[in-house]
Amino acid sequence: MDFITYLKEALKNEVPKAMAAYRGEATAASLSEMEVEIKQMTHELGNEVLKQWLEAQDEKYPADDRVCDCGGRAGYVRRKEGMTITLEGRVYYRRAYYVCEECRAGHYPLDQQLAIEAGEMSQEVIKQAGLLGIQDAFGTSSQILAELTLLELSPNSIRKASLEMGERVVQKEKQLKEHSQQLDNQLEQRRIEEKPARLYGSMDGFMAHFRDGWREMKAGAWWTTSQRKDGTLKADGVQYYVDLLPAEDFSELVWATGFEKQAAQAQELIFVADGARWIWDIVSQHFPQAIQIVDWYHACQYLSPVAQLAYSDVAHSEKWIEAVKNYLWEGDLDAVIDACSEHVRSHLKSEDDPAQQAVTYYTNNRQRMDYPTYRARDYMIGSGTIESACKQIGLERLKIAGARWSTLGGRLIAKARAAFLSGQWHQLQPLLNIA
Ligand SMILES: [Zn+2]
Repeated sequence: MDFITYLKEALKNEVPKAMAAYRGEATAASLSEMEVEIKQMTHELGNEVLKQWLEAQDEKYPADDRVCDCGGRAGYVRRKEGMTITLEGRVYYRRAYYVCEECRAGHYPLDQQLAIEAGEMSQEVIKQAGLLGIQDAFGTSSQILAELTLLELSPNSIRKASLEMGERVVQKEKQLKEHSQQLDNQLEQRRIEEKPARLYGSMDGFMAHFRDGWREMKAGAWWTTSQRKDGTLKADGVQYYVDLLPAEDFSELVWATGFEKQAAQAQELIFVADGARWIWDIVSQHFPQAIQIVDWYHACQYLSPVAQLAYSDVAHSEKWIEAVKNYLWEGDLDAVIDACSEHVRSHLKSEDDPAQQAVTYYTNNRQRMDYPTYRARDYMIGSGTIESACKQIGLERLKIAGARWSTLGGRLIAKARAAFLSGQWHQLQPLLNIA
């Protein structure tokens, strides 16, 4: 029997005995009182168990000396108390302590073995505190953490944990970038026989407010689809990525995250996005074979402003929109462009004329609006997946009142949020200590 099962059984057996032996009355004013008291008790018990369990990991009989990193001899001094911030609260524990005779460096073999940084948050605390910190203001997160886990951390510690999780994403992306750019790896991937059947990608930009003003962040996603019972498509396994970079640099991240998904090898690679030029440039650069689709809702968005300017009454306006949407749905781009052209006002500058803008938009993107074909092939033609993600990754957390992000902080929080929304939270590896 493993230790913790043994301990659980032993404690469970002890509880009825202890209750029977209690001389007083086990009174309680309410269920709430009992819950709160027990929560506090198990927290304290947990702290004690963790302390004992930690100390049991230490060398029972410390050696007289051990070799220091400098090559010198580190002699055993005594057991010395340390503290680590855990889900069970601050745990004070004793462990063997050595000092090097050459460089005077202190050693705690137990801390090394368990990757404990004395006085710092444990990995589990970093994950949970960071998870709260990317959802809400650090002060609020600190209160919620204390309320739910009884662990008290300062808002600044929550902030540190959140930023560290973002930094882990940065490290992972750095590795992905390096890996994806090596020719050997690219050749190897081509040889893998199992290829994704149908993979989707998208990108979008959104504005975020930083200390030095509004900046455009860019986000992207990869996903596959499956059919719901009613036959409609839903996105599965969506992976998000985000950065604060100009398009030519963001492009590297698109390639790197796509490489992980074998995007270039997919039997069908489909990009659904709005009409932004930078998006299609990146797609054409890295994935020339991809099917490019302008998201259906964006494609329709150009029609209302034309109708509003052309018709004074709502009924006419709506009728016109319906008719043109229908052309669009049927893939008759000539008819769409003709309908918009009729309302072009030659006396207006093109940027002031919605009809002229619509004509340009439909003309430039007509190859990406073959909706009858996409429907026939059962493609997803909405990019709602990525748009809702942009809101969740960026806007909600970055917009919380009073939060004025440095570009570094905002970028890390956005990256951590993207990882969480992708279900990658627990896969993020601790930063390597290059000490
Ligand atoms: Zn040394």
